[in-house]
Amino acid sequence: MSRPGDMRPLEAVPGERPPKPRPAPVPEPEAAEYWAAARDGRLLVQRCETCGHAQLYARDRCLACRGPVSWVEASGKGTVYTFTVIRQNYARPFKAWMPYVVALVDLAEGPRLMTNVVGIDPEDVRVGMAVRAKFETVSDDAGIVLFEPDG
Ligand SMILES: [Zn+2]
Repeated sequence: MSRPGDMRPLEAVPGERPPKPRPAPVPEPEAAEYWAAARDGRLLVQRCETCGHAQLYARDRCLACRGPVSWVEASGKGTVYTFTVIRQNYARPFKAWMPYVVALVDLAEGPRLMTNVVGIDPEDVRVGMAVRAKFETVSDDAGIVLFEPDG
């Protein structure tokens, strides 16, 4: 039994098409480490080895100074910058999740991530609320990073 904000496929209903799993990303080589870490329950960001700037999504150079970057583990803590509640989406599996929240979350390390806020009724999500990362494995190569209320 799902509750608002869970984003889990509903149980199969006799006579209807079965629930469809969440779409999985096909990792590009430069982002494979990010997706594999998310599969393993860790959130990575890129940090510049020259100036310390943190960034997501994956790029081959620092956006601030063009210096080399490497992956570092993030705290998983963040704040909702903005969000919207999706009430219409007829594609599976999204249809089974409605209403659900698409949000921009500012990570404690700096980067802003487009994601879903789950584990809370969409009507209770607020700008500025503290959230923490949670992970959902979606393939052998990738997990996705979702956020849930922190505290
Ligand atoms: Zn830099």
